[in-house]
Amino acid sequence: MTSEGRFGAVITCMDGRIQTRTIDQVMTRFGVRYVDNITATGAVKNLDGAVTPTGEGLLESLNVSKEAHGTNQVALVAHAGCAGNPVPDNTQKEQLRRAKAVVAERFPEMEVMALFFDPRIGFEKIH
Ligand SMILES: [Zn+2]
Repeated sequence: MTSEGRFGAVITCMDGRIQTRTIDQVMTRFGVRYVDNITATGAVKNLDGAVTPTGEGLLESLNVSKEAHGTNQVALVAHAGCAGNPVPDNTQKEQLRRAKAVVAERFPEMEVMALFFDPRIGFEKIH
């Protein structure tokens, strides 16, 4: 895979305003050539401690990315003004922290990064 470029993955909202920037950000942060783009409306709310059926679908896609593309890095992304997850930014950041723990538990060998995007600020890494 190295000669053709490594893969990373992102689990993010489907919002069209953030797709290009998100993929570009994940390529840069992980140093990967390709990013498998796994989306659902307000994705992070589906991995908020408990995993919803939609969340299971997201994790299934991540597993395909891992098995088919050798992905071992994933970014979880939420964003300000999310129509599918209309809660305050700080609540979304808490959801990101819990989602990060969920994904890390399911994929212990994978590097998991959480990012919050605000168009006025850019991408903020959530620890
Ligand atoms: Zn959204």
